[in-house]
Amino acid sequence: MPTTAPIGPSLLRKLGRRGLEWLFPADCAACETPLKNAPCGWFCEDCWRQLAAPYGPVCDLCGLRFESREITPASHCGDCIKAPPAFDRARVMAPYDGVAGKALRLLKYASYPAVARALVAQADLAQAPAELWRVERVVPVPIHPNKLRSRGYNQAGRLATALAQRIGVPMDDGLLFRQGPQLSQVGLRRAARQRNVRSAFRLAEGANVDGLRLLLVDDVMTTGATLSACARVLKRAGARRVMAWSVARQERS
Ligand SMILES: [Zn+2]
Ligand SMILES: [Zn+2]
Repeated sequence: MPTTAPIGPSLLRKLGRRGLEWLFPADCAACETPLKNAPCGWFCEDCWRQLAAPYGPVCDLCGLRFESREITPASHCGDCIKAPPAFDRARVMAPYDGVAGKALRLLKYASYPAVARALVAQADLAQAPAELWRVERVVPVPIHPNKLRSRGYNQAGRLATALAQRIGVPMDDGLLFRQGPQLSQVGLRRAARQRNVRSAFRLAEGANVDGLRLLLVDDVMTTGATLSACARVLKRAGARRVMAWSVARQERS
C-alpha cells in the first residue's frame, strides 16, 4: 500500500471538483469547448477574442452602451444629463454577461493574479478616448477592510497594477480608503446606490492629489455610483481630472 498519494486527499477535498477544474481546466470556462491552445489558460481563442470586440456606441461621459446607433459621438445618456457623475469620463471593456464576468469570477474567488494581467493585456485601449490613459496615477477602488481581511487581496488592485504597468504610470492604492459599515449594493437601484456609497470613501491622511490626473479602476461597474463617490473625494481634494475604467459593466435589462 503506498503511504502517500501524488496529491494529498485533504487538498483534493478542500479544492473539490470545481477547484480542480480551475487549476487544470480541460474546457473553456465560457463556452465549454475543449481547450487546445488557450490564450489565457481558461478560455478558448474565440471567447477570449470577444473581450477586445468593439463595445459601443456609448455615452461619452459614463460609457453606458446605447441600444440605438443613431447618436453623435458626444451624446450623453439620460442619467448623465439628469445627474452628471463626479468622474470626467468612464469606459468599460465588455459586458458582464459573458466572458468578462466569468473571468472576473475566477479573479475574485480563485485569486489568480494572472487573470488580471491577461484581462488587461487583452483590453483594446484604443477604443477609449486617449484622455483616459493620459494620467499621472492609477487608483484602484478600495474594498472594505473586513473584506480585505477575509479575501486577502483587492481584485480591483490587481487590475489596477496590471493596467498601470501597461500604460506606464504608477499605481497608488494608498490614496483612498473605504470606511463605515459594510453595505451591499446588490439589488439596489441607482438613487439607493448613490445614497449607499456617498460617504463610503475618504482620502488617506496626508495624501496629496492636488492638480493630478487620475484613473480609477474597478472590476465591475453597474450604475457608476461607486466610481462617482470615489471621484468626488478625489476632486474635492484637488484632483484635476478623474477618469474611470472597469473590466465589465452590468447592463440594465
Ligand atoms: Zn470558449
Ligand atoms: Zn452616461
